[in-house]
Amino acid sequence: MAKTSLMIVEDEVLVARDIKSRLERMGYEVIGTATKGLQAVDMAINLRPDLILMDINLRGDMDGITAAMTIHETYDVPVIFCTAYSNKAILDRAKISEPYGYVLKPFDNRELEINIEIALYKHKIEKDLRVTRQQFKVTLTNISDGVVATDATGKVFLVNPVAETLTGLPSTHARGQSLSKIMQIKDFETGEYFTDFQEKVLNSQDYFNDTRLYLVRADGEEIPVEISVNFMKEDEGRFEGIVLTIRDISKQIGYEKTISYNALYDQLTNLPNRALFMDRLVYSVNRTKRGERHPFSVLFIDLDEFRLVNEGLGHHVGDRLVSMIGERIGKMLRPEDTLSRFSGDIFVVLLDPVTSVNDVTMVCNRIQAAIAEPIVIDKQEINITSTVGIVINNGHYQVPQDLIRDADTAMHRAKSQAPGSYMIFDSEMHESVLRFMEWKNGIQQAIQDEEFEIYYQPIMCAKSEEVVSMEALIRWNHHDFGFISPAEFIPIAEKSGQIHQLGEWVLRSVCNQIKRWQQTEVGNIKVAVNLSAKQFESDIPQLITSILMETRISPSSLGLEITEGTAMRNVDQKIIMMEKLRNLGLEISIDDFGTGYSSLAYLKKFPIHTLKIDRSFIMDIQKNLDDLAITQAIIAMAQNLRLKVLAEGVETIEQLQILRDAGCDYIQGYYYSQALPADEIQTFIANTRGGRKVSYLRQSAVKSHEFQV
Ligand code: C2E
Ligand code: MG
Ligand code: MG
Repeated sequence: MAKTSLMIVEDEVLVARDIKSRLERMGYEVIGTATKGLQAVDMAINLRPDLILMDINLRGDMDGITAAMTIHETYDVPVIFCTAYSNKAILDRAKISEPYGYVLKPFDNRELEINIEIALYKHKIEKDLRVTRQQFKVTLTNISDGVVATDATGKVFLVNPVAETLTGLPSTHARGQSLSKIMQIKDFETGEYFTDFQEKVLNSQDYFNDTRLYLVRADGEEIPVEISVNFMKEDEGRFEGIVLTIRDISKQIGYEKTISYNALYDQLTNLPNRALFMDRLVYSVNRTKRGERHPFSVLFIDLDEFRLVNEGLGHHVGDRLVSMIGERIGKMLRPEDTLSRFSGDIFVVLLDPVTSVNDVTMVCNRIQAAIAEPIVIDKQEINITSTVGIVINNGHYQVPQDLIRDADTAMHRAKSQAPGSYMIFDSEMHESVLRFMEWKNGIQQAIQDEEFEIYYQPIMCAKSEEVVSMEALIRWNHHDFGFISPAEFIPIAEKSGQIHQLGEWVLRSVCNQIKRWQQTEVGNIKVAVNLSAKQFESDIPQLITSILMETRISPSSLGLEITEGTAMRNVDQKIIMMEKLRNLGLEISIDDFGTGYSSLAYLKKFPIHTLKIDRSFIMDIQKNLDDLAITQAIIAMAQNLRLKVLAEGVETIEQLQILRDAGCDYIQGYYYSQALPADEIQTFIANTRGGRKVSYLRQSAVKSHEFQV
């Protein structure tokens, strides 16, 4: 370790030499000896000793005290004065130069060493303290929080620059004042002034911990802040004062406001969104529940064919249209009403209060008229109408969601009957909603309880009278009501979306059954499954592919039936889908043919295999010449297109004969068999093998026209 370096200032050369040799014996290094004041200053600045032993009484230009003070101006070094006299005047002057020690000559070695060590130690401590203080100051100046410190009585002794800005008071002004003088505080929630802020701060130990408050600046501006208080205690635990940190949260509050705005308002139209609307609706419902019997009304507004705008003119036009229509509707309402954009092109209005039904229909007419006015976007004129469902609450609604549900139902009713009109929800609709809910729940339960079964109706070759394939028909064997016709529950399952689950179950069960039959005498038999329109909207090729792989049956064993009505809606999309299915190796039949558009042009484009003539033409074919003519025409046309023809619902030998004569390929109907449970199929096939005349007409419990709920 380097030795401590000392400098001696002593005008008596002999004394200086004596001191030097004594110091060196003590282990110090004496790096310089000066005899005059000015010389001492130069030497100290050049050599930078760790400590200076300074004689006060120096002969010549400058005495020791002045020399020490001059040195201190440039450089901080501990100085110990040594002198032979100690009169009061000299001592007083020496004090001003902040000496680190004072030894009277003559001194002994021990005394000198103690003085030097104490001086070095004190100097080091003071230096450390200065560094700490400097660091503290830099921290306080640069910290992004405001800091205010007070003593135990609340008198401010420190204010950093950020706190100066936040309070609007310069620290020179704030220091020495009481805390309550420099900080005006308001409650964040109530906005009321804190009259006892200082007391609260000084007395409550944990009250302020990132507490949100408003700080009122000297110029009156209110700044949202978070304030924390820390208590300063000295070692013995005595309360010395507090340090308050103040964080400006204006920006954060801004973000929070944006976030909560976005949570409640629709960004496109700036209208309340569904969440905010429901909030207001809850309030209205509760008000009528409390017996304040002002009726109110909910209008569910849907733009007609809005999809076409989006598809034809692009989403940016669709968006602008929606926001312009939002403005138009808003102009038709009173300030107390709420207009919300629920989703896409659906606006919902809360008219609260209303005095009569007439009131509501008048507003509705005004809204529909405003929407129907031509709108010009990008130089294009757009004409759009809207359909509205209306619910009026006289206090009989308890659940806000029910109002929305019923307004939605009324809107859909109106749309299906006359797009562009409005409809008020009534008890009949209510009944049908309830029925729908009951059915829907019943279907769900039945899926769980495995009440669904699949029956198979044989399809015969008209010529050979052998079974060529089968149609899978779903049956609901209800635990209370017995068999329920698919004609009843399939439309409900389609509306509720349950058809996806049911349809998948049918496909999988049929494929499994095909697999089982392959291992019996039945052998390879093709089975057609009915697909509903909804299933075509999902990725049905993917589903079928995975079921075929899972059950390991060939695609040629599975056929698909889609009704003419389904095929003719969104034809292009249907063609793409059918092509995918055909490419998988599946044969597709058009079901119930003749009941829909029967568009020949489309029929040509469809990648189909068979036409199934609807039962309604077959029923009276013996008596009704029109039906006969239509059936013959369908068969001729199908042959032209190289399609196979199947007649559905053949019940008599006469019907069979006519169809055979007309060249119909396949026959399906009660004449041969009703739909049978899987385990009866084997017997049926055995009995008809080789075209043996069928005496096997099953009198089963399953008569489709007898299915009753
Ligand atoms: P569909 O596909 O046209 O099926 C033929 C319907 O006619 C079946 O009624 C069948 O039992 C009945 N039928 C067959 N031959 C005769 C006959 O000679 N006389 C009479 N009076 N009726 C006959 P079902 O089984 O009640 O099915 C009704 C409809 O339900 C089906 O019409 C089909 O559209 C639908 N469906 C049945 N199962 C399913 C399924 O698994 N999925 C889907 N999406 N729909 C299905
Ligand atoms: Mg069918
Ligand atoms: Mg059919």
